[in-house]
Amino acid sequence: MSPDSAQVSVRLAQEIEASGPISVADYMRVANTAYYGRADPLGAEGDFITAPEISQMFGEMVGIWLSDIWLRHRPATCHYVELGPGRGTLAADALRTMQRFGWEPSVHFLENSPALRAKQLQAVPDAIFHDNLDSLPTDAPLCIVANEFFDALPVQQFILTQAGWRERVVVRGDGACFAALPGVCATDDLIPEQFRDAALGSIYEICPDASSIMQQLSARLAKQGGVMLVIDYGYTQPALGDTLQAVQHHTYADPFTDPGQLDLTAHVDFFELANCAKNSGLLVAGPSDQGAWLSGVGIDQRAQILTASNPTRAADITAARNRLVTPGGMGTLFKILAAYDQGWPQPAGFGL
Ligand code: SAH
Repeated sequence: MSPDSAQVSVRLAQEIEASGPISVADYMRVANTAYYGRADPLGAEGDFITAPEISQMFGEMVGIWLSDIWLRHRPATCHYVELGPGRGTLAADALRTMQRFGWEPSVHFLENSPALRAKQLQAVPDAIFHDNLDSLPTDAPLCIVANEFFDALPVQQFILTQAGWRERVVVRGDGACFAALPGVCATDDLIPEQFRDAALGSIYEICPDASSIMQQLSARLAKQGGVMLVIDYGYTQPALGDTLQAVQHHTYADPFTDPGQLDLTAHVDFFELANCAKNSGLLVAGPSDQGAWLSGVGIDQRAQILTASNPTRAADITAARNRLVTPGGMGTLFKILAAYDQGWPQPAGFGL
């Protein structure tokens, strides 16, 4: 156990000792804030790899998609906003592509990790950082991108016991080990009707932070104009299931051991995100499979052009394209949702 990890574990253990069990969401929030704050976890030597780190083609497709909307709508100004930009790779690839179409927006990053902010500045030196959504500009439309951001936000879990639905709470184990148990308070009222009589042991998840962020940004888009693109792994209809998972060095681990040293994620509820957007009066496209969207926007044409100018890299380019697009890779596991203001053009890539 590293000193960082020991600190997070000790802090959580002390909190539980003093005030009783904490929610899975509070545990996940403390663990992930420490995890992302301490270092850059991305890449082959890190814990996990994301689509923009697999190939420049991913960010380029996002850039082309945004440029197409921008060219058709031509707002006088428009801000590029990215939530949780990681190493800034997606933004750098997208912005380079947008520049080719003559578009150079100001760049705003919502990021709470000091370690990753430093990386992002290297990739996009002009980026302006935000601690929360309130400080995002209000004077022009926003083009918002979020890749693997929502899956890092804390989920609350509920479990069906003999006594009814209970929130899952976290208790202490030994050292850096914790465990999740059903809490004591009845939570049946919080469970949608359709799931109340599920099988014993069923788990229902919600992500209040995701809903809140989506609601705030949707309200901004309805007022200021603009579009939002959300890419993540998740589900498109209300569902039961324990999707909380931990990854370290590209391998699954126990989410309740060694908090702060593992990447904790949960599947994103795209049905809920789409509803938040619709409730603010936005239109939505998707959710669609990542593979279908990338193909629709033109990844195969881009792969051909890249291969023609880098023939020695042909095999790598094809492998990256396949990893992003095929069902055996990220093609169907990952979903893409667009939300856009009513006066804005219908976005490409959704088979409309
Ligand atoms: N989008 C990047 C990185 C995904 S990892 C990519 O695709 O490569 C998740 C990112 O979200 C990291 O940059 C992390 O620091 C950031 N993040 C997680 N929780 C956050 C929060 N509550 N507020 C702001 N940023 C957050």
